[in-house]
Amino acid sequence: MLLDPGTDLVTLLRAVVDIESVSGNEKRLADLVEEVLRTQPHLEVARDGDCVVARTRLGRAQRVLIAGHLDTVPVAGNLPSTVEETPEGIVIHGRGTVDMKGGVAVALKLACELDRPRFDITWVFYDHEEVDASLNGLGRLAGNRPDLLEGDFAVLMEPTGARVEGGCQGTIRIRITAEGRAAHSARAWMGDNAIHGLADVLARLAAHEPKRIEVDGLEYREGLNAVRIGGGVAGNIIPPRRGWRSTTGSRPTKASTRPWGIWRRSSTGTRSR
Ligand SMILES: [Zn+2]
Repeated sequence: MLLDPGTDLVTLLRAVVDIESVSGNEKRLADLVEEVLRTQPHLEVARDGDCVVARTRLGRAQRVLIAGHLDTVPVAGNLPSTVEETPEGIVIHGRGTVDMKGGVAVALKLACELDRPRFDITWVFYDHEEVDASLNGLGRLAGNRPDLLEGDFAVLMEPTGARVEGGCQGTIRIRITAEGRAAHSARAWMGDNAIHGLADVLARLAAHEPKRIEVDGLEYREGLNAVRIGGGVAGNIIPPRRGWRSTTGSRPTKASTRPWGIWRRSSTGTRSR
């Protein structure tokens, strides 16, 4: 078996990392994860596309979901994995070692070893996390088999340095386009500079202080960020258009209108559209 859950965690992680699984190419890794899970008599295994779900059925009062994505962003000359011995311990390098094959390896090993957990556990290994949300395997699974995602608490094994972070209940993405008027830069007074038109938006964004919200002792940080910007035509032209995008994370206990509220407060009075 290529993935041996009985081996040590470093060896298992390297085996998971060395199976390239850039988004859209998760099948081989999903097949191998499924093969391992199906050898475990205490787990009931289901598959949806390249999403593999394994559940204990012990009749416990509560169920915990533990999920992680199998895919990675594109490889950048960082496979196969390498190991470095450092004074702090062993460091493994390679695409996906942290996000999130570290979590996948831990989950896979625990799924096999925890045959009598205190809570029933649903282990979810899913595809297409690093790409457009419409392709996300977890979203597809929620549509095809919502019963497989039933539970009382969920943990996503994203890398947080082994700390528990409160999850976000929603994000909103906003695209802003500032309209100006083109002119030759030698006669700038004849134009209207669209890039300058976004200065106030960016200043407000930089000045925004995200809230920290505590939910049941867990601190959650909101965020409001410019994530892309573009514009301009040539070195001698006053730019007539400039685009700008932001993302806003909502707090975990509030309704989905929360991002709009943050956005309105930050953007009130700006002259850009
Ligand atoms: Zn991730």
